Amino acid sequence: AKADCECPLYFISNIIRGKYMRKNLKKLFSYYKPYMGIFVADMFFAFGAAAVSLVIPLVVRYITSEVVYWGSSQALHTIVQLGVFMLVLIAAQCYCNYFISNYGHVMGARIEYDMRAEIFSHYQKLSFRFYDDQKVGQLMSRITSDLFDITELLHHGPENIVISLIRIIGAFVIMINISPRLTLAAFALVPFMLVYAYVFNKKMKRAFRMNRVKIADINSQIEDNLSGIRVVKSFANEEIENEKFKKGNDGFLDAKKNSYRYMGGYNAGLTAFTTAITVVVMLSGGVMIARGKGNITDLITFLLYINVFTEPIKTLIDFTEQFQNGYSGFERFMEMISVIPDIKDAPDAQPMQEVKGNISFENVSFHYADSDQMVLNHVNLDVPAGEYVALVGSSGAGKTTLCSLIPRFYDVTGGTIRVDGQDIRNIKLSDLRNHIGIVQQDVYLFAGTILENIRYGKPDASREEVIRAAKEANAHEFIMNFPDGYDTDIGQRGVKLSGGQKQRLSIARVFLKNPPILIFDEATSALDNESEKVVQESLEILAKGRTTFVIAHRLSTIRNAQRILVLTENGIEESGTHAELLAKGGIYQKLCEMSNLS
Ligand code: ADP
Ligand code: MG
Repeated sequence: AKADCECPLYFISNIIRGKYMRKNLKKLFSYYKPYMGIFVADMFFAFGAAAVSLVIPLVVRYITSEVVYWGSSQALHTIVQLGVFMLVLIAAQCYCNYFISNYGHVMGARIEYDMRAEIFSHYQKLSFRFYDDQKVGQLMSRITSDLFDITELLHHGPENIVISLIRIIGAFVIMINISPRLTLAAFALVPFMLVYAYVFNKKMKRAFRMNRVKIADINSQIEDNLSGIRVVKSFANEEIENEKFKKGNDGFLDAKKNSYRYMGGYNAGLTAFTTAITVVVMLSGGVMIARGKGNITDLITFLLYINVFTEPIKTLIDFTEQFQNGYSGFERFMEMISVIPDIKDAPDAQPMQEVKGNISFENVSFHYADSDQMVLNHVNLDVPAGEYVALVGSSGAGKTTLCSLIPRFYDVTGGTIRVDGQDIRNIKLSDLRNHIGIVQQDVYLFAGTILENIRYGKPDASREEVIRAAKEANAHEFIMNFPDGYDTDIGQRGVKLSGGQKQRLSIARVFLKNPPILIFDEATSALDNESEKVVQESLEILAKGRTTFVIAHRLSTIRNAQRILVLTENGIEESGTHAELLAKGGIYQKLCEMSNLS
């Protein structure tokens, strides 16, 4: 069933009937479990707050119908006592409201905390394949706006239902005991009010949702524009951008106007209904008194009860909307939480110590999950520990893919990859990845200092170790040129790292990690000749004594390789040293000639 379906009854009945829904609801309730104490207390105080609002009119009724007739001295005494009693009640209600508002929200915040931690750690587990077809923005909104809706429902839902039902039912029962006829008059308009409130609330909430969509559009438009501002300027397209923006901005304004129109209608209408109910009660009460069939105290009591039952009607109507938002947010949350990571430790995964770095591909085939196109077909390859192997081939030949199979970013679809003779699918994933160092063309540096970024390669490394790694990576010198040296904040204004500098930081990371197996995927491809030389130098130092795969286009990077593999759609077509392959006069020689490799 669609969560945003029009009719709440249909929606609720679907939840109760659907097994899947029932499972979800069970899971939803399970988040309360650690906070049962607060939850029960919250319900208790909600009950208290509602009870007080039911009792106060009764006290007033007692005073106006009995006490005032007792003769002044006795009456005065009792009225003062009752006044004090009412103050106590109001203080109690005040505390109830404080408790609900404070601890109820805190409970909601704690549940939100748990859910946020759960989904974040779930994100950490999901594999490359999952992230290949996800938008970061959507993953973010699962954590931000969806969780907000869910916890609003989780903590306001139960207390609102308790308070509202007790107030409405309680008021109705008390009123009908005082005067059935007047009760009929007081509730006569309620069905109309319900329909009105429901319809307008629905429209209003839909309009506000539209606001959110429009502002999200505007935000992404601004982000897109600012990220590409240099392109805008180089094409002198500022005016066109302004025009484009005006469209979005106008759309948002119109959406806002629309939502405020409904909001106005909703609030003004409900106030009018409340007033109309008061008028109806006054008129019917007045007529009844005039005809000798009623009395003034009943009328006063009823007037006092009007707000007691009209307010919660609004709350309940709001709740239907809150429920649908919160519940559909929860469904999306569950959908995400139930994604099973496709790459994880086998139940009997082995730890891996003392890795030498022998790597073998046995009949390895691979295609990505979203296509049947084979990227690798029966690849066989033996790389003994410590060998320096270069992979060449046209773009799209599968070089990156082949290398990403070694740390199990993806699992082979056929055949086996072994490290030191052990099938990598039987090795503990974290052990496997801890023994492989990767340097790619794009370096991602996290917010924080240079020191922290290098230390990412070995979280418990000392400052000295970090500095040694930076020196080995040819990075020490430029780092020391910053006023704050290793403590330079990378995100700070004015700190701009060149591609080569970033690359050297990422190499320092790998030095620190000290893995026996290395993968350089076009690590120097984006660099100018000058920085390429420096980076290449540190890469060669890093590669000493480690099994190394190098993917590169530049001849300088690969000519020294012990073995060069030429990858085509038919697999590894040629293999040998630079001299051997040139002499052979095959694909490699042609690649060199086309100066693809130069
Ligand atoms: P190379 O590194 O040799 O340029 P890749 O290994 O990146 O080649 O790509 C090999 C093929 O696999 C290409 O056809 C590419 O479009 C496809 N491919 C690469 N990455 C993915 C992915 N994450 N999902 C689906 N297809 C991919
Ligand atoms: Mg590639």
